Amino acid sequence: MTLSRRDFMKAAGTGTAIGTLAALGAGLEAPTVRARELRISGAKVYPSVCPYCAVGCGQLVHVQNGQIVNIEGNPDSPVSQGNLCPKGAATYQLAVNPNRVTEVLYRAPGSDHWEKKDLDWAMDRIAQRFKETRDATFFEKSPDGKTVNNTLGIFSLGGATMDNEFNYSHSKLMRATGVVAIENQARI
Ligand code: SF4
Repeated sequence: MTLSRRDFMKAAGTGTAIGTLAALGAGLEAPTVRARELRISGAKVYPSVCPYCAVGCGQLVHVQNGQIVNIEGNPDSPVSQGNLCPKGAATYQLAVNPNRVTEVLYRAPGSDHWEKKDLDWAMDRIAQRFKETRDATFFEKSPDGKTVNNTLGIFSLGGATMDNEFNYSHSKLMRATGVVAIENQARI
């Protein structure tokens, strides 16, 4: 498109920056698509499912050098056909966000104050407590002699921000260790 200085000034006087570009006939779509292509260029694509609700919209997760660089709707999903609601469309910000909490507050038994601990410490502590509780409450047989191999001492409650892959492996872990009370908000 050829644009004279006069045309530019005329269009600029009639609207906002975006309105001006549109008035000049400049397509905004192409630069937007180009920017997105650059971000996902060479990335591996993994189909996934939105973690937020039971609708289960399909997503594509783009990964580059082990880092998520983009998450968008999966057009091949029979459920959502590439669409995501605003919550699902913001999933990337759930995974990649400098505001994510990276430490926990821990109050030891009998203590009167909280201590900051890192996530690795917290994970080890949870695993240790899980194992202790499981071993202390595990039954191979029910009182009437039936094989049950379970524990009723642990209840697993998942949240909506746990993604599909996490829930799959988590439910395997729970069942393998004998936990039978498993629930999650996002049921797919
Ligand atoms: S994109 Fe929205 S409607 Fe679809 S599963 Fe996620 S939260 Fe539910």
